[in-house]
Amino acid sequence: MRVAVIGGGIAGLTAAYDLANAGADVTVFEASDRWGGKIFSSPVGERRVDAGPDNFLARVPDATALCKELGLGSRLTVPVAPVPAYIYRSGALHRLPEGTMLGVPTDFSALKGLISETGIERAELDLSLPATPISSATSVDDYCRARLGDEVTDVLVDPLVGGINASSIKHLSFEHGAAQLFAAAQRSPSLVEGLRAARSKVGATLGSAGKNEPVFYGLEGGMATLIEALVDHLEPRSDLRLGSPLVELPPGFDSVIVATEAHAAARLMERQQPEASELLHQIHHASVAQVTMEIPKGQIEPLDASGILVPRTEGMLMTACTWFSTKWAQYASPDHFLVRITSGRFHDQRAALLGDTELINQLTRDFATVYADPGEPHSVRVVRWPNAFPQYQPGHAALVDEIDEALSESNVKVIGNSYRGIGIPATIKLARQTAAAVLG
Ligand SMILES: Cc1cc2nc3c(=O)[nH]c(=O)nc-3n(C[C@H](O)[C@H](O)[C@H](O)COP(=O)(O)OP(=O)(O)OC[C@H]3O[C@@H](n4cnc5c(N)ncnc54)[C@H](O)[C@@H]3O)c2cc1C
Repeated sequence: MRVAVIGGGIAGLTAAYDLANAGADVTVFEASDRWGGKIFSSPVGERRVDAGPDNFLARVPDATALCKELGLGSRLTVPVAPVPAYIYRSGALHRLPEGTMLGVPTDFSALKGLISETGIERAELDLSLPATPISSATSVDDYCRARLGDEVTDVLVDPLVGGINASSIKHLSFEHGAAQLFAAAQRSPSLVEGLRAARSKVGATLGSAGKNEPVFYGLEGGMATLIEALVDHLEPRSDLRLGSPLVELPPGFDSVIVATEAHAAARLMERQQPEASELLHQIHHASVAQVTMEIPKGQIEPLDASGILVPRTEGMLMTACTWFSTKWAQYASPDHFLVRITSGRFHDQRAALLGDTELINQLTRDFATVYADPGEPHSVRVVRWPNAFPQYQPGHAALVDEIDEALSESNVKVIGNSYRGIGIPATIKLARQTAAAVLG
């Protein structure tokens, strides 16, 4: 069986891995001159540092399982920061309240200091309000604002859920943009009670320190370690082609798996699969830009957390920062702190319009306001991710079903994080399911 895989990110490489292992004749076409897509590390000073994801969820087993299968089990790492994260609000940093799950509190007393008394009282109404109706058009914002009120929604839920998706929760489907919260809402009329029940079951929380299991895994050498292992395995077994941007679906293959971003898939299929292409064009994407700095020790005090989240209501360009040197043991150094500052959300093009120097200056100013003036950095890296974050808007799942339906009579399938889960584990899961379907 001859299979073409278009796109050499984690989705395409994982599908190729399963297909090649099953004996298929696989060709992978990658437009750029490197493998990995969003999984990418590049130098900051002397070190290579993740410019895309630096961890994945442990709770969804697919990424962990693939790492172990590739012999990387002993290279899985866990964050070592003593505090999960801070939220910046009105001139002060506040610890992410203990027990929050995607920004939703399970312990109201932990909100004190960050949320006003009135805000806490309003959030507590969740326990007694009648069930909030949910439809495919319900956004995360619709549901959470109805249950928890404005303050908790703006200060906690939007930065956490919106942050993961580079989005605003107004534009995110409740069912597919915050699947864990949606599942809790199915369990109980109260969102908080639904989460408490789920938490006592799994014994770990997302977005605050887990009690038993790690919430996230990283990899020694960064996420690119996973890509290198896949490519090493694939090289002798398949035809891997870098610098091969396709403009159409390639002829001569029994199956074609399109593993690009949805917008690229839409363009690829315009002529041969116009109906699917039109549907694919309806998935929108957000852009982000980051500035990563090595800050000499002595110029600034270290943060004791993985990072800081900045709610949209603060009006800053900076949306978050990750303290790599506190979060990961492998990035600690005797000389420098390593910090990545992020900007950009859906419908916020400010970062995209700034040149690199202005972006560095503005994010440094925001960082100084939120935390402290870092002084002159030892080295700086700017990375831009245009149209990188697919937006799971209300109706997303139905749209993806329609895309699959439009392709059902063809030999073409789409995979990647634009469709059935935005993170690495869900992307791997869809890739493996699709490879299995192709193999029959
Ligand atoms: C800054 C950032 C931080 C993130 N953080 C996390 C995180 O902490 N945890 C997590 O789980 N996920 C995170 N993600 C999401 C994660 O990176 C994605 O889930 C995953 O990498 C998507 O992989 P993919 O293979 O679907 O797509 P991609 O990695 O985008 O790969 C698609 C590939 O297709 C290629 N391509 C496009 N058009 C063509 C063409 N015409 N011909 C040939 N090739 C083409 C592209 O060059 C690219 O290499 C983050 C993403 C970003 C951008």
